[in-house]
Order: sequence, then C-alpha cells, then structure tokens
Amino acid sequence: MTVNSWLRSAQSIAYPPHCLLCGAPGQPDRDLCAGCDHDLPRLGDICATCALPLPGATATRCARCLQTPPPQDAAVAALDYAAPVDWLITRLKFSRQVSHGPLLAALLADRLAAAGTDADMLVPVPLHPRRRRERGFNQAAEIAAGLRRHLGVPVRPDLAMRRRETGHQADLPARERAANVRGAFRVAAPVAGYRIAVVDDVITTGHTVAELARTLIAAGADRVEVWAPARAPAPGGRQ
Ligand SMILES: [Zn+2]
Ligand SMILES: [Zn+2]
Repeated sequence: MTVNSWLRSAQSIAYPPHCLLCGAPGQPDRDLCAGCDHDLPRLGDICATCALPLPGATATRCARCLQTPPPQDAAVAALDYAAPVDWLITRLKFSRQVSHGPLLAALLADRLAAAGTDADMLVPVPLHPRRRRERGFNQAAEIAAGLRRHLGVPVRPDLAMRRRETGHQADLPARERAANVRGAFRVAAPVAGYRIAVVDDVITTGHTVAELARTLIAAGADRVEVWAPARAPAPGGRQ
C-alpha cells in the first residue's frame, strides 16, 4: 500500500463519504450516493471545441464553431448546468461549500478519462484580485485542486492574471460579451510549449474561457483546452 492510498483509506475511515445531495452514505471515492450519481444530468455528445450539447450529432463541432472556430483546441464539460448541478456550483461559489469542489472535480475527471484527454498543467480562470478578496477564494481553483488529485497534473494559479474586472457576462447583450472580456487577462509566467487546461466551474457564454485561451496561445502555449464540470446554454440560447 502506498502512502497516498494509505492516507486515502485512513481519511475515508475518519470521514466516510456521504452524499451531498441526499445525505445517504456516499460511494468510496466521492460524496455522492449511487442513486443520486445515476440521476445526474450528464451531457451526451458535446461540441469538441465549446462543449455545447450536440443531440443526435453527426458532426464533432456545433454549427457556430464550424463557422467561427474558438481559440481553444478543445473543450470538455461533464454535466448540464441544471438541477442539482447548478445548486452544487452556486453553493460552492457563493456559500463556500468547499466539499462541493472535490465532487465536481471527480465528476469532471470521469468525463476527461472517457475522453482520453491530457494536459501538462491546470490553470484555473483567475478572479480579479478585488473579487478574490471579497469572496475569499476562487471556485475554479477549488475544482482545479480536486482535479490535480485525480490526474496528477500540477495547478498553476500564478500563470494567468486578470487585468481588470469584467462584470457578469450574462448581464450583457450577446454582441457585447466578446468585447467585454478582450484583453482581460495577462500571462505572468512562461507557457511556451506547454499543453494547458483552463479550468472553470461552468462554461456559460464561453467568451471568458475563450479569451484566456487566446491569451495563452498568443504567449506560446502549445495547446489549450477548456475544462469545466458544467456547461450552460447562454441566456437567450446561443452563446
Ligand atoms: Zn444521494
Ligand atoms: Zn461549439
């Protein structure tokens, strides 16, 4: 038994997994019972570059990505941003239910394993320092930390910074969202040659993660993927 697996089994004796959704005993590796796990709104086929659902898909990308490819090389999301996933995420984000981070990471790790994707480092989408101070933590960093335990890939929160606050993308008309985040990030350490996974809690409009991907590619990253536990359709339908 390795030290890590010993620690994990000791931890599961001290803190046996319990379902965060219904309180029943959890499965061995996560705070979720088998019944609630089965009922989660998992995404089926998704667009390879923006992770929007592609029901009954024959193509690998949505029409919008075929027409205007986003800067990232790929995108992976595991769950529809619907109940109870939206609850898990908003409670992590606004009520600091940090136990939700490892569960969301475990669910995303399942999908990543099925997709057979990989990265050299994980970069959580940074909050502006003022927002980070107000909230006390970054929910994307919590999910990235959970992913590190599954994938063994280092987390580099120092690699990208947010230059300015951009407000809530969802509050803006669709045509203003891309412009709102343009130039919002800067890269703070060398990225040349690395395969980077940008990690967020939920992909909503897609413009924020696309802008971060664009900035990392411009700084020399070899490949940039966007990973999030959940995918929401943008307000009003298309992103
Ligand atoms: Zn349950
Ligand atoms: Zn797409």
